[in-house]
Amino acid sequence: MVVVGASLAGLRAAETLCLADQPPTVTVVGAERHRPYDRPPLSKKLLSGEWTPDRVQLRQPEAFEQLDVDWRLGTSAVGLELGEDTGGTVHLSDGTSLGAEGIVIATGARPRTLAGQERWGHVHVLRTLDDSLALGAVLAPGDRSVVVIGAGFIGLEAAATARTLGNDVVVLEAAPAPLIRALGGEIGHAIAALHEDHGVQVRCSTRLESLDDTGVLLEGGEHLHADVIVVGIGVEPVTDWLDGSNVAVDDGVRCDQFLQVRRQDGSPATGVFAAGDVVRWPNALFDEEMRVEHWTNAAEQGALAASNVLATSTGAPLEPYAPLPFFWSDQYEHRIQFLGRASADDDVEVVAGSIADRKFLALFGRDGRLRGALGVNAPRWVMPMRRLFLDGADWDEALAAAAELSA
Ligand code: FAD
Ligand code: NAP
Repeated sequence: MVVVGASLAGLRAAETLCLADQPPTVTVVGAERHRPYDRPPLSKKLLSGEWTPDRVQLRQPEAFEQLDVDWRLGTSAVGLELGEDTGGTVHLSDGTSLGAEGIVIATGARPRTLAGQERWGHVHVLRTLDDSLALGAVLAPGDRSVVVIGAGFIGLEAAATARTLGNDVVVLEAAPAPLIRALGGEIGHAIAALHEDHGVQVRCSTRLESLDDTGVLLEGGEHLHADVIVVGIGVEPVTDWLDGSNVAVDDGVRCDQFLQVRRQDGSPATGVFAAGDVVRWPNALFDEEMRVEHWTNAAEQGALAASNVLATSTGAPLEPYAPLPFFWSDQYEHRIQFLGRASADDDVEVVAGSIADRKFLALFGRDGRLRGALGVNAPRWVMPMRRLFLDGADWDEALAAAAELSA
């Protein structure tokens, strides 16, 4: 079996394969030279210098060494030929190829960039351990002017860490509020307020003209000085290595409900599954095809994709993946948690606490259906909402339950 991608989803896949009753031989191919590490601390405790790089390893050295895996780290997959019956052949950057009965694709995502940004050393992205160490080194003195472009998760978490270290921070967002696509305008403004409390300027509906060696030029002619620029304008799934492979790709690797990869004609590629940020699949719980770019999804999908690879090889039934998505984000002393799937046009109601108190629970719904629950500093209010989702509660039942919970 071959796993492509040696991060969270790839590691979980490899561990699941190794734990099988009759473990197959397992090779993991990873483009980065590092052992699998965890990304959430890269914008938080590693970036702030509170943690050293050994703390972000996903497994302790002994546990890692005990896994019976042939690790090909620092090597990229450059092509895939699907097998006629099952699995296929993965071609590697070192010129070798791996034939496999089962394959898990877990190549994640890479940051989008602004045209020409690589020309400047003071312009950073934040995706890898090396990115975090490079950015952390320039933020550490705490006396820099930092401009963050994009008020998504990367931008806001990097802004919070940069500010906590003492830097001056301005966040620029093209949309009318931060996180608007993920959480809508009202909640986006509430999150912006957490940053304003700490002296960070969050400038929305702001368009960038260009970057230069002293800062950024905005549309309209205003120039903002910046010693450090962080670009956090979203990611793209890493699928270019699949060009010419007959795998269906459309903003991610298209999979069926079992995370089994589809061929371009829509038929399943037997024995080939995918997991993590790279996957687009139909989530039956929401009756929607989705791609999720968060930790819990990558961990769960890695394990499920691998167990479905094993099921294919033994003829056992495949298991569908129909989860309630979850993510968290830590910004300053605040913990934001979200269950479900929201979009900008959902109805949103703050049902417990208040935005002014910086502690609240908000529900998201559409067409009489509960779609999401967001808590700021409210884990005891958010987590019980999971039960409501799984019981199929409608919007009115959810509002009543939330009111009772917080009474
Ligand atoms: P990735 O982690 O992107 O890993 C894919 C791996 O595949 C990479 O190592 C890459 O080098 C490798 N690869 C790519 N192409 C090839 C190839 N051709 N051949 C071989 N290898 C290849 N989520 C939360 O829920 N909460 C958080 O607080 C949170 N914080 C985050 C902070 C940061 C800074 C970042 C970047 C992400 C954060 N996330 C968070 C999101 C979470 O980390 C991701 O959803 C998760 O890492 C996805 O895992 P993955 O294995 O699918 O992909
Ligand atoms: P993101 O969450 O998709 O946010 C990107 C933001 O940048 C959006 O608000 C986007 O607005 C905005 N934007 C796009 N182009 C812009 C431009 N030219 N100028 C100004 N703003 C622009 O992506 P991200 O913050 O870069 O994060 C990258 C990945 O890491 C994501 O997968 C994210 O989920 C993950 N991550 C997750 C966490 C977490 O779960 N806590 C933490 C860190 C990172 P539009 O929406 O209008 O395009």
